[in-house]
Amino acid sequence: MASPEESQAIISKELAAVKVKFSQIEGAELISCVQVMVQIRIARTERKNIVACFQFPEGYPRTPILLELKSKHLSYKLLDGLTRVCEEEAKKMIGQQQILHIAKFIRKFIDDNPLCICSDEISNLKKLLKTGDEIKLKQKTSQVILKLREGQYYMNVKLTVPDNYPLEVTGVEISDTNFPSHLSIHFASQSFEIARQCVQPPLRKNPKAPLFTPKPALSPVTDYLVTEVIHTYPNAVCPACRENALPVVPSEIITDPSDARFVERVYCKHLYHHNCLDKYMKTPPFIGGKKCLACEKRIFHEKWKATPELAEARWAHQEARHRELAEVVDFLE
Ligand SMILES: [Zn+2]
Ligand SMILES: [Zn+2]
Repeated sequence: MASPEESQAIISKELAAVKVKFSQIEGAELISCVQVMVQIRIARTERKNIVACFQFPEGYPRTPILLELKSKHLSYKLLDGLTRVCEEEAKKMIGQQQILHIAKFIRKFIDDNPLCICSDEISNLKKLLKTGDEIKLKQKTSQVILKLREGQYYMNVKLTVPDNYPLEVTGVEISDTNFPSHLSIHFASQSFEIARQCVQPPLRKNPKAPLFTPKPALSPVTDYLVTEVIHTYPNAVCPACRENALPVVPSEIITDPSDARFVERVYCKHLYHHNCLDKYMKTPPFIGGKKCLACEKRIFHEKWKATPELAEARWAHQEARHRELAEVVDFLE
């Protein structure tokens, strides 16, 4: 056992070494370096940073250094786990100077685990997943890979979390799916839009809106894809005929946009069969525009752009033709 004087000398030597060598760690800043506490801030980006607080325990360096980690943006659960790993690391360094070694270890952890910045969002995402869904984290490329399933439909998604998350836009790519292509294109652009709106202020500014701050995009994007898309659309019912909008077997998907069973997505997000929607859009009442049978929102669709007045006139014209035809038929009988 070292005497208190020897211990004191060892600590003084380590404090001197920390002062000289902390700058070898990229992004490190020495906040305090005294006997009662050594504090080093280790930052990779504006949000990826940790303040490591060290205290010398009795008997140091024969005992592991005491350590506390703080961060504004990394989750408590992650810091807790990292603290335990660092404590194990300190035990390996018994008898030697431990502070710089641990600080380097933390920096390496931040570098090697870029997804640490969204660890809470990832655990929430895992709770959303259902049996058959899969999630893979690729720390090397900072990507979250999702394989989502519902019935016979699937969707593989690749999310790329930028280093400067959440200040830069998160990449979203639907790498493979068996949804009809016009729907999957829409899902992809919608996800991209959600991600973009998290980091870019709206073009038309609302003077009353609070100052725009970028928001983490992983949760809103995956909530949309997992809850609203994959676990909803395969079982969605056409509000007009109450039958499944998409075929149960994806190989029966109709790709001809004028086919009776082609699936149309209206503005409010509900799915209709082409003929069901066509019939409904051309049947009165037209006043105030046609409203979705499921949610009562006004239906906007580029295939049915007639104004209520035009639709009314067309319908009246068609009815008149039917009557004329009926009269002719009467003569023939
Ligand atoms: Zn229908
Ligand atoms: Zn609707």
